Amino acid sequence: MTSGTANGGDGPLLRTQGLAKAFGGVRAVDGVDFSLEPGELRCIIGPNGAGKSTFFKLLLGSVKPDKGTILFRGRDVTRAEPHRRAHMGIGVKFQHLGVYGDLTVRHNLQLPLQHSLSGEAMDAEIARLLERLNLAGTEERRVAELAHGQRQWLAIGMALAMRPVLLLLDEPTAGMGPEETRATGALVHSLHEEGVTIVVVEHDMAFVRQLGAPVTVLHYGRVFAEGSLAAIEGNEDVRNIYLGATRTMAVRGRHH
Ligand code: ADP
Ligand code: MG
Repeated sequence: MTSGTANGGDGPLLRTQGLAKAFGGVRAVDGVDFSLEPGELRCIIGPNGAGKSTFFKLLLGSVKPDKGTILFRGRDVTRAEPHRRAHMGIGVKFQHLGVYGDLTVRHNLQLPLQHSLSGEAMDAEIARLLERLNLAGTEERRVAELAHGQRQWLAIGMALAMRPVLLLLDEPTAGMGPEETRATGALVHSLHEEGVTIVVVEHDMAFVRQLGAPVTVLHYGRVFAEGSLAAIEGNEDVRNIYLGATRTMAVRGRHH
C-alpha cells in the first residue's frame, strides 16, 4: 500500500465533500469541499473559530462528521478509526501538543515507533528524526525542560515517526520566535521536497508567506476563498475577514 503512487492511481490524494460537524448550535465545519493533489503543499488560514482545527480532527477521525465524505488515496475513510487512518498515512501535529512533558525526548519518540521498530533500528530512526528536527543532543532531556519551539518540533517529529504520506500541521509555529519560525519553514519545505503532501494551518501571515503555497481560507466553517498566496493576499474580502481579525487577535494575544 505504501509503494507506487501515493493514492494507487489518478485523482486527488485527499478529497472531502460536504463535510460538516456541529457542536450544539455551532456549525464548526459547514459543508467543506476540499481537494489535495499528491505532493501538494497547502496553507489553511482563517479567523479564530473558523473551524480549522475541527477540520483536521475530522480528517484524522478523532471527530466524526455529521455529514459528508472523506476520501483518502481513493478510499472512503469517513468512518475509519484514527489509528487506521494513521496506518494509511495520515500524520497530524495538533494545535494542542501531544507530547509528554514528564518523559524524555527519546521516550516520546519511542511511543509512535514502538509498533513498527525495535532495538538498533529504532535507535537509528530516533537519531534520524532528532537530526531532522534540530533536536540532536536532547534525547535524554525531559520534554518539560525544552524550549517551547523545541516542543513544537518534537510534536512534529511524533507525526513524522509514522512516515506519513499526508502531514497535517496545526499552528506549527505557535509561540515561536522569528528564528525558530524560519527553521520550521525550512523543515516544511524540505519535507515537501521529499514528496510528503502537507497542509499547514496557520495564522502567522509571515510564516504563510515564507511557505509561499496556495491558500484555502476558512470562515464560519466554510471555504471562503482559495487560490495562490498572491491572489489571497490581494483579495479584499479576505483582508476584511482575516487580516482584520489577525490584528485583533494579536492585540488580544498580548494579554494572555
Ligand atoms: P479554529 O481552529 O479555526 O480556531 P475550531 O475548529 O477550534 O476553530 O473551532 C470552531 C468552532 O467550533 C468554534 O466556535 C469552537 O468554539 C467550536 N468547537 C470546537 N471544538 C469544540 C468542542 N469539542 N465542543 C464544542 N465546541 C467546539
Ligand atoms: Mg485551531
